[in-house]
This record gives sequence, C-alpha cells and structure tokens, in this order.
Amino acid sequence: MKLLKRVILTVTLFTILFFPASVSFNTSAAEESPAPVYYVRFSGTGLNVYGDPSLSGESLAILPDDTYVQILLGPLDFLAKIRVYDTGLEGYVDMRYLKRLDAIVYDYDIYTYEELEEDITKLQERYPELLHVNVTGQSVDGRNLYELVLGNQSAPESILIHAGIHAREHVNPYLVMEQLEQCLIYYDCGYFHEQSYRELFDNVSVHIVPMVNPDGIAISQYGEGALRSPELVETLRACYAYDLSTRRTRSTYENYLARWKANARGVDLNRNLLPGFGVNSKVSQPSYMGYEGTAPFSEPEMLSLGAVTLLCEPSIIINYHSMGEVAYWNTVESRYTAINTEFSNYMLSLVPYQRMRSGTASGSYLDWIYSGENPVCSITFETGNVECPFTLDQYPKIWIQHSLVVQAAAAYAYTH
Ligand SMILES: [Zn+2]
Repeated sequence: MKLLKRVILTVTLFTILFFPASVSFNTSAAEESPAPVYYVRFSGTGLNVYGDPSLSGESLAILPDDTYVQILLGPLDFLAKIRVYDTGLEGYVDMRYLKRLDAIVYDYDIYTYEELEEDITKLQERYPELLHVNVTGQSVDGRNLYELVLGNQSAPESILIHAGIHAREHVNPYLVMEQLEQCLIYYDCGYFHEQSYRELFDNVSVHIVPMVNPDGIAISQYGEGALRSPELVETLRACYAYDLSTRRTRSTYENYLARWKANARGVDLNRNLLPGFGVNSKVSQPSYMGYEGTAPFSEPEMLSLGAVTLLCEPSIIINYHSMGEVAYWNTVESRYTAINTEFSNYMLSLVPYQRMRSGTASGSYLDWIYSGENPVCSITFETGNVECPFTLDQYPKIWIQHSLVVQAAAAYAYTH
C-alpha cells in the first residue's frame, strides 16, 4: 500500500513539475490574495535561474540579491519554479536563497528573547491552525520557556528540535525559528521527497523549544544589565571573581559575559542531568561554563525541556549547538546506537558535518535521552566555524546547510 502511494505521489510530482498547465489552480482565491513576493538573499555572486528543473546547463539569468520573484511551483526539496517580478522570466532556482518579503522571523544579527516572543505571537496570529504555542515554565530570571508545536498535535509521530541551551550560541534560536516559519509558509505547496508538507506534518508533529536558556542568552547579548533580579546580578559578579581567581578567564567582565554559556545561576544546563551528573566536574561552584548545579534537574530550564521531551515522546531529537561544523550522534552508554547509526547517516548526507566520536556520560541532555525508555534517534549539530558568539557573516552558510533539516527529520520519522 505504501509503495502504491509513493508511486502515485511520484507521478503527481512529475506532472506538476513538467506539465504545470495540467494542474488546476483555484484562480478565484489567487485573485483575492495576491501571490506572495520573495526576494533573493545570501546568493554571493547571484542566483542562477535555469530552464531545466535539474538546475543544470546554461543559466537563463543570474539574479542579484534583493531581486523580487514569485514562486509558481514547489518547493520540491531544494527546487522551486519562479517568475522574476520585473521581467516575467520563468525558470527554476534553489529555493534556499529565497525569503518571503513579509516574513515574520527576520533578524539574524542578535536575536533576542523579546524578538522571539514577538515573532511567536505574530506567527500564531498568521498561522492559527498550524501552530500551537505552550509556555512550559519560567527561567530563573522570570522569562517564559516556550514550546512551539507545528502541525497535527495528535499526530502518531513526533519529533523535537531545541536550541539555545548554551547562552553564547544564540544564532541557533534564530535558525530554528526561521526553519519553523519556512515550514509554515510552504505548508500547502511544499514537498520533501515523496511527501507534501501537509501530509508530513499531519502525521508528524514537530515540537520546537526555540530558546532553552533565555536568561543566559540575554546575558551574552547585553551583559548584566539584561537581568531583572539584583541577586542574579550578584551571582554573575561572584562567578567572574571565581573564574578570575581560578584562571578560568582572563577576559574583561564585558567579554567574559559575552562568552557566557550557563544559565543566570551559573549552571551549565548541558551538565545538569543524569547519567554522568558531576562525573567530569572540574568546577566546584557557579561559573560561566561547566558547573553542573546542585542536583540533576535543579534548573527550571532543564526541567521544562525534560518535561517537553517526556510528554511528546519524540522518535527523533535534533539538538542545536555551536561551533565547529561537527555532529555528535552517539554516547558510549547509549541504548539506541543501532537505530541511530542509520539516522545519523541520513542526516549527515543532508548536512555534511564531520561525525564526532562517542563520549562517556557527563550529565548532558544527550546522555539523558539515550538512557531513557523511549527509543530515540538524535543528532547534535554544532553550527558555524568561528568562536561564539558569532558575527553576522556566519549565518548565510548555516541557513543553506540547515534549511531542510526539519522536513528531513519529519520525513524520516514518517517513513521509519
Ligand atoms: Zn553548546
């Protein structure tokens, strides 16, 4: 049955791509709401437009950044058929270089907690049927911890994506929000491999925790003035004194806070779990990085992420960290190495990061999910290739590498 369905879908896709006139569109609806406009970005020397959907041969035109286009068909994986707004030229392009002109998620420079909240509100207003928002707790400095659910909340399968456990890695919350918006924009016209986005997300709900550690991110972006609690400001100063005295830092206070990894209590959230809690501890008190906390799950940010994980029972978890363009996928103690071998091969064929060797338990989130009862495949992407926090020029490459990760993970969950 599944094979038959795939054959039908493949024929349908072939028909759409090569005989678009045979596909009937609802023209009255199109008249009411004009087709959205997209613009070219991140193209470097320009985006090639091809007459052939294989995106090969001689290009019909090269569109510089900020050229306006409309999408006529697709996207199908990376492929979209477009019309250039000014000239009327039609052809095929790599859709990763297109962004919708009225996109909501729009600032990859310093993406703050406040921008995240605003974007969540606007996305929910624009896509009320497709996006569900949960507040799953509060950070130690009183910021909301969000879970965003894309697609059918009672779907038989679910996947989980999270970003921003480590404060200074704050490019990744922006990345996952842009991934989310892209899935919403193309919900009714996009295909990944044989499945339409609608079919995928009807069957696989996507749970996104876009900013696990909002306080730490505010510290890294704006320093101690970002904190609301005077006691937590004192904690930061005590951390700095400790890290100076133990020679864990020689930076100025300002640079030290920009390189902050922990939450606002000086706990490294990716050391705050079991198994391996405190095993490799080299830090005896709160610090900008590496301190595990007083007990497993002592921090509300990890309690919240843990609860989301247990409640949605994901078959796949994507973890976003930075930096190095490498991928962690396994631990020595993992119960799920066998199923994760195939999955990690699949994901690394899409995102060509270097595979890292398996480490031993150190109280990380990966240690925790691989020791749980729920069989899970997971991969940790370490985005970017310079020290955190990043400069602006890192993002275009990260986007091109990761723009289809959600669709790919959902497709894997659906077909396995
Ligand atoms: Zn990290």
